[in-house]
Amino acid sequence: MNEREFDLVVIGGGSGGVRAARVAAEAGARVALAEEDRMGGTCVIRGCVPKKLMVYASSFADLPAEARGYGWDFGVGRFDWGAFRTRLHGELARLESVYRRLLDGSGVTVFDARARVAGPGAVELAGGQVIRAREILIATGGRPERPEVPGADLCLVSDDVFDLTELPESLLVVGGGYIACEMASIMAGLGVEVTLMCRAGQVLRGFDDEAREVVAAGLRAQGIAIVPGTAPVGIARTGGVARTGGGAGGGALRVRDSAGAERVVAQVLLATGRRPNSAGLGLAEAGVRLGPGGAVVVDSHSRTSVPGIWAVGDVTGRVNLTPVAIREAMAFVETAFRGNPTQVDHELIASAVFTRPEFGTVGLTEEEARATGPVEIYATSFKPMRSGFAGGEAKVHMKLVVSATTRRVLGCHIVAPEAGEMIQLAAIAVKMGATKEDFDRTCAVHPTMAEELVTMRRPVRSWGIEAGA
Ligand code: NDP
Repeated sequence: MNEREFDLVVIGGGSGGVRAARVAAEAGARVALAEEDRMGGTCVIRGCVPKKLMVYASSFADLPAEARGYGWDFGVGRFDWGAFRTRLHGELARLESVYRRLLDGSGVTVFDARARVAGPGAVELAGGQVIRAREILIATGGRPERPEVPGADLCLVSDDVFDLTELPESLLVVGGGYIACEMASIMAGLGVEVTLMCRAGQVLRGFDDEAREVVAAGLRAQGIAIVPGTAPVGIARTGGVARTGGGAGGGALRVRDSAGAERVVAQVLLATGRRPNSAGLGLAEAGVRLGPGGAVVVDSHSRTSVPGIWAVGDVTGRVNLTPVAIREAMAFVETAFRGNPTQVDHELIASAVFTRPEFGTVGLTEEEARATGPVEIYATSFKPMRSGFAGGEAKVHMKLVVSATTRRVLGCHIVAPEAGEMIQLAAIAVKMGATKEDFDRTCAVHPTMAEELVTMRRPVRSWGIEAGA
């Protein structure tokens, strides 16, 4: 065998690429993986993992006040970003080495180089080396997208946050999606003065409206100023010097917005969406069809328009979540290397927004469900025992969206501490097609917040059901 010939070459060492490479190798394929950056991709290096550790770091801010309500006496100390960042990067380096060990242990040949498709069955590495393979898998993920606003290059994107040398004194977060809300919440918890500016009327467009209101109330309770219906139209250096953590070049930034207002902040974080990482990979030249935003167009088996070239994960722009990329990778290996064509089920995927409190969601929103037929809404909001006892005003929110005809729970939305953990479990029932009566038959675990999911007896409202029916 020519050493440069493989059954599979994977381009991209993130969640999808690494899983596909490992599993294909374990199925007996000769596999190479090319990655130009650190192994682990967005999730491990500049996304889910460091973000969640920052969520934990910021969560300690609330503890002293709550503990005082329980009779403890301690104050808020100083948060040492430098010390945290050192530990954070140590952990990321550890995780990266675990990924490399796993690849090595599976017999995958790793090329630490940028790669591009150079023709049918051929991949060219930076430096000119060409490797050949029967199958090529594109798993290059996505990257933050900067809006076309003058001065956007002066701003941070999410990738930059984990490398800040110091925390800014003030931060304007632009966007209202997952990243904007999570970063706003984290930074506020770490003591940064945060303003969140979103162009929609409320944060988290596309999520359940009632839950969005509760999340926004939680953000405001953290001291975050939300500026809805507004977008920046120009960003420039002030010329002055920010007291701490200033933008590129050290100066503070002056932001003009679509409402005609101006504000000066130390830093601006653009969290205005992500775009598939498909440029410069030789895809269009090879005849691979690209869709809106550069997403690689694939069929339900992750095949691109060119035989022998496949794509999984964020580069395909289907559902941009790590567990989905991993499933797509596993299905690809079943299809391409195990003679078992497998499609990924993209229905009813739960997710969580890691704000404080968290927001966990699965299935249809109330607004979406109303368009499908008659529905009943079961919802409750209450002060949870833990923070309520300590005098906290924060409320949690639980909601079930139920089909009045099939009785199936079409959607479940939870805004509460640890909602991410709760929705994972509720998602099993929803995915199984549980009815409201199945939820009702389930005995409560008491005293918990989640018990409300099985004790809501009467709908708070219904849609599409005729009176007296
Ligand atoms: P989202 O698509 O979730 O949100 C993008 C936000 O930016 C929206 O509020 C959008 O507004 C706004 N926006 C877009 N363009 C502009 C513009 N030109 N000017 C002003 N605002 C703009 O993207 P994210 O970057 O937050 O996240 C990307 C994806 O990554 C998510 O969809 C998710 O799949 C994944 N992710 C998941 C996480 C999790 O599971 N916890 C965490 C982080 C990311 P509008 O709504 O009006 O379009």
